[in-house]
Amino acid sequence: MHTAEKQSKPIVLVALGGNALIRKGQAGSARQQLENLKLPIRQIARLAEDYRIIITHGNGPQVGNLLLQQECTREVPEMPLEILVAQTQGQVGYMIESTLDQELMQLGVNTKPLVSLISYVVVDENDPAFETPSKPVGPVYTEAEAAKKSFPTVKTAKGHRRVVVSPQPVTIVEKREIKKLIEMDFIVICCGGGGIPVKREGRAFQGVDAVIDKDLASALLAEEVGVDTFVIATDVEGAMLDYGSRNQRLLRRLTLEDAARHLVEGVFPAGSMAPKIEACLQFVGHGGQRAVITSIGDIAAAVNGRAGTEFVAG
Ligand code: ADP
Ligand code: MG
Repeated sequence: MHTAEKQSKPIVLVALGGNALIRKGQAGSARQQLENLKLPIRQIARLAEDYRIIITHGNGPQVGNLLLQQECTREVPEMPLEILVAQTQGQVGYMIESTLDQELMQLGVNTKPLVSLISYVVVDENDPAFETPSKPVGPVYTEAEAAKKSFPTVKTAKGHRRVVVSPQPVTIVEKREIKKLIEMDFIVICCGGGGIPVKREGRAFQGVDAVIDKDLASALLAEEVGVDTFVIATDVEGAMLDYGSRNQRLLRRLTLEDAARHLVEGVFPAGSMAPKIEACLQFVGHGGQRAVITSIGDIAAAVNGRAGTEFVAG
């Protein structure tokens, strides 16, 4: 009976933003990141009783820091972005896994199997995104600081940031393995930093010097695995209209039509809120039940339909 119960538990995929690890104004020491993770991970540990769980995560701040670190010395060979992404899957995967382990134990759950998986995501080598860097990574700079950098930067809601090329995800290479693990009620941490971008070369894969947006990769994974609820957890309550102005207001529900229209009208900025809206639109548009954008403090409430921006079909 117990097994049958487990099999029928709905699947929730939670995509954690890079800010779940490094808050605004923090340098991002290991201690800070582990401390920040407690808030979202505690809720996920509780949810694991009633849901099967997949966790994905961003890596913008972490991968940007690794780029800066390797630019500080010429004594060690420079690594391409896909290897830095793999490094962040290791470091962030470890931090999530160890925090989750602790939180589960606090709840008296000692038997839940967890695994973090190095994950590949296929991209199209002819993707036009390779021509223009678009994805913000690393620390925030003032306009004057940004002007002095040797790499391209863009102005984001948070300030100026470095940008790198970011192609669209085509398919998650390990989707069958992830599905199998989820069927066995493993908590799976995967597709970190949007996954390691690879192109197909016959039956083999070759890494590509780029970073995939974690919201888009997570939506694709949610679709390919067939999850019930897709949650994007970030540092705001949800998608807002007139964001940053005195009239800003939370959109509690968004129809696919309205979401698509807002995207066309450019209501949401590229590289932050737009990919989240696109990701939810894709998941629900392709037959997914429910997608929610919410804050890292409201993950449980969002799963229960009480917080965030919810996407409804039709
Ligand atoms: P994450 O690391 O979670 O992916 P991002 O920085 O990429 O976070 O995206 C979340 C940010 O999007 C918020 O911190 C906010 O500054 C910004 N943002 C831009 N436009 C909006 C909007 N219309 N509504 C809500 N947040 C917005
Ligand atoms: Mg982001």
